Amino acid sequence: MSENISVLGLGLMGAALADSLLAAGHRVTVWNRTADKAAPLVAKGATRGVTPAEAVEAASLVIVCVLDYPATKDILRDASLDGRVVANLTTGRPAEAREMASWVAERGAEYLDGGIMAVPQMIATPGALILYSGSEQAYDRYEQAFAPMARPRYVGAEPGMAALLDLAMLTGMYGQIAGFLEAAALVTSAKYPLKDFTAELLVPWLNAMAAQQPVWAEKIESGDHRTEVSNLEVNRAGMENLARAFAEQGVGLDLLLPMKTIIDRRVARGLAHEGLSGLIEEL
Ligand code: NDP
Repeated sequence: MSENISVLGLGLMGAALADSLLAAGHRVTVWNRTADKAAPLVAKGATRGVTPAEAVEAASLVIVCVLDYPATKDILRDASLDGRVVANLTTGRPAEAREMASWVAERGAEYLDGGIMAVPQMIATPGALILYSGSEQAYDRYEQAFAPMARPRYVGAEPGMAALLDLAMLTGMYGQIAGFLEAAALVTSAKYPLKDFTAELLVPWLNAMAAQQPVWAEKIESGDHRTEVSNLEVNRAGMENLARAFAEQGVGLDLLLPMKTIIDRRVARGLAHEGLSGLIEEL
């Protein structure tokens, strides 16, 4: 079903979102602080809103994607939100999302907060995902309309949940990047071809390890950190070995040393028999 949708904020991400909605046949009204960024979308059939209030007026679904939450409030402050759905796809913290949900509700609108798990080039491709939290009624009403941008996934009524899960996914990503960079530093220090190491050895290994993480999640949820894989004493010795080998190779282990510290602390508490999942208790 074709909907009237407004997109406020036409930076790299907002423009990609608006473009995908237009391509899917929705009637799209756009607004951006720097007005000329609207031109390519207007050329493809979007309507230009001269002010944010005018753009909001044009649609029952208002998508916002700007730099941050203060900017979101600035642009919505003078608009009539009553009876509309605001889907704020701007990146922020869970507390900001909760505050924004109240602010929008005070103005008579339903609120969805979104976490975009994609770069602009991935929008409208199968790998893109957008997490939504907040009004379930609003999500159900617009799930189909959201779909052209990225696979939509509702993660609960608590408005901060999409932002929290977005941060959690980024956290997993940064951890993986940290591991990759340390591995790459060690490999290049020995002049082994890094591309071969990465594609042929590391990536298959990481995929196999990642496949185990749902088992870890079960352990963490149950609080039972016993292991038949490798206990903390074995991992403590492994980390010691790693630290010494890196030093001998002249490579820093700074991105991973905090993990060694936490393993040592947990072992010092007499929990050497546990598996690595037990480290979560130290966090
Ligand atoms: P850009 O820097 O390309 O665009 C920023 C947008 O915010 C522009 O439309 C800009 O307007 C607008 N803006 C900034 N400050 C204000 C303000 N005070 N009032 C009104 N408008 C303002 O960033 P992106 O489009 O890449 O990012 C937008 C959001 O999407 C961010 O929250 C980002 O975290 C999120 N996101 C981006 C991803 C990415 O890979 N790019 C990935 C996932 C999420 P103007 O054009 O006038 O400067």
